[in-house]
Amino acid sequence: MSLHTRNFSIIAHIDHGKSTLADRILELTQALPAREMKAQVLDAMDLERERGITIKAHAVTVGHRARDGETYKLNIIDTPGHVDFSYEVSRALKACEGVLLLVDASQGVEAQTLANFYLARENRLSIIPVINKIDLSLADVDHTKEQIEQVLGVDASEAILVSAKEGTNVGDVLEAIVRRIPAPRGRPQAPLKALVFDSWFNAFRGVVALVRVVNGELRVGSEIVLMSNGRRFRVEELGIFTPKPRVEERLGPGDVGYMMAGVKDVADMRVGDTITELRNQNARPLQGFREPKPMVFAGFYPIRTKDHGALHDALHKLRLNDSAFTFAPDKSDALGLGFRCGFLGLLHMEIVQERLEREFDLDLITTAPNVSYRVTLTNKEVVEVNVPSQMPERGRIERIEEPILEAAVFTPAEHVGPILDLLEKRRGVQKRFEYIASDRVHIVYDIPLSEVVMDFYDKLKSASRGYASLDYRVVDMRAAKLVKLDILVNDIPVDALSMVVPRERAYEKGKALVKKLKSYLPRQLFEVPLQAAIGRDVIARETVKAMRKNVIAKCYGGDVTRKRKLLEKQREGKKRMKTVGSVQIPQEAFLAILEV
Ligand code: GDP
Ligand code: MG
Repeated sequence: MSLHTRNFSIIAHIDHGKSTLADRILELTQALPAREMKAQVLDAMDLERERGITIKAHAVTVGHRARDGETYKLNIIDTPGHVDFSYEVSRALKACEGVLLLVDASQGVEAQTLANFYLARENRLSIIPVINKIDLSLADVDHTKEQIEQVLGVDASEAILVSAKEGTNVGDVLEAIVRRIPAPRGRPQAPLKALVFDSWFNAFRGVVALVRVVNGELRVGSEIVLMSNGRRFRVEELGIFTPKPRVEERLGPGDVGYMMAGVKDVADMRVGDTITELRNQNARPLQGFREPKPMVFAGFYPIRTKDHGALHDALHKLRLNDSAFTFAPDKSDALGLGFRCGFLGLLHMEIVQERLEREFDLDLITTAPNVSYRVTLTNKEVVEVNVPSQMPERGRIERIEEPILEAAVFTPAEHVGPILDLLEKRRGVQKRFEYIASDRVHIVYDIPLSEVVMDFYDKLKSASRGYASLDYRVVDMRAAKLVKLDILVNDIPVDALSMVVPRERAYEKGKALVKKLKSYLPRQLFEVPLQAAIGRDVIARETVKAMRKNVIAKCYGGDVTRKRKLLEKQREGKKRMKTVGSVQIPQEAFLAILEV
């Protein structure tokens, strides 16, 4: 039976047509009645899940009658398309024997094409190159093939040429999946081994796990053991997504589906864990994957102090579904009680922040994102610092190390100049520079993560008119000459504005930061000095002048409705303000660091 199963993922750079190709495959295999088919149907189901209505369909099973007359069961395992979530790609690939490597014929090989290709190769999967968008007049199939061979070292002669949009040659893709991707191995009589490759919390059903059975059988009612923690559960429900959930009595070798087993906490059913049965407890677990590690940190503080408890609840709820993000209580002199949160990257941070505001109706002040430093003190003690204001005093520090990325950029050759400038300015060190076609360049740099978390991606996009693509991974911790820069508003240090910067750039940064802050601070009734300091040395200063008297005078007497409007406006403006000492600081000011 598993001879007729094929498990695969579609991997691609963003916008190269993954969702569109998945739509065509669902249509061709008649997984959904035509009237229920809509564009990017799997993405739509995922959104619904986010709101807690349906469960997600990240693994879809369809039936396909191949040209040999046999019927095959195809499991399509979905992967996200952003660098922040490459660990999610890697865990999905653990459930597959092969991938469709999709490349847009009008764009060629991009940064995430290469990154995903590496993941597939590491997992020893069969790779079927598929060249998409051949209907476009800008499509250049020969060039794309050339890049696939040059950059990926894959034979492109058997690449399948498709238009996912128009449905051209999608049947050939299905045929290639059946012919070129091996059937899963594994025996139904063998002791149970199944991999949890995704899990999430459903408010009504508890934890739902996506599983890939490798050996043996999962059956409703049977008792299972999780190898990592020895906990036992009884299987309550099994099923597959077609893409609608369909209940099954058992899942056998090669099968991919969902399982519910009365698990109340996602921490008990961790992604990467191996499910087994009592008689097999001493077997070796399946190879899981690296735990995602937060790389970017920021403080979240409620605007209204009374929302602190609500924020805590909300963070806890979000974490049930997203084990990649972390939080810990934190206290800021300037912002009060809040939480220090860790994220995989900036996009991840934005998603969490948006969900907190939208789904939980919380108004937050967010501090500028920063990285985690490894600090060796003069007494040889080593500490992790992920709050800049908590960087120890200069005199106690022997060495500071920061995370270093290997960043790969793909760009049309005409934009190389400004891109190299940008990389150099951000303390990058060139490792590789190659032409992958006459007009396309692949550049690899080592660059500090702290230089990328700010606005690097936007800058890269504008340096290349939007054409460059980026992928990166942390490769190292490296010593650097860094100092803590403090900001004082009205002579009071504002801890949430502290930042860690390269020593040789501290002066320039301090100057730029107080200047930027000045533009964000509303005038007060009194003069407010803004200072940047390293330890006790003030290195830059600006002054916010006092409000002119007649501005206030206008509010007195006169038209009552106008006065009320003014007050209302003021209240609106205050929504995102924090009072430090006697000065009101708006949210934007806390992010000014991003702009210098
Ligand atoms: P994903 O990010 O990889 O999931 O890409 P999508 O499937 O969302 O496609 C990105 C964009 O490319 C959408 O606007 C699609 O309509 C378009 N697209 C996808 N496949 C084709 C194709 O074969 N031809 C053309 N012309 N456009 C396509
Ligand atoms: Mg998509």
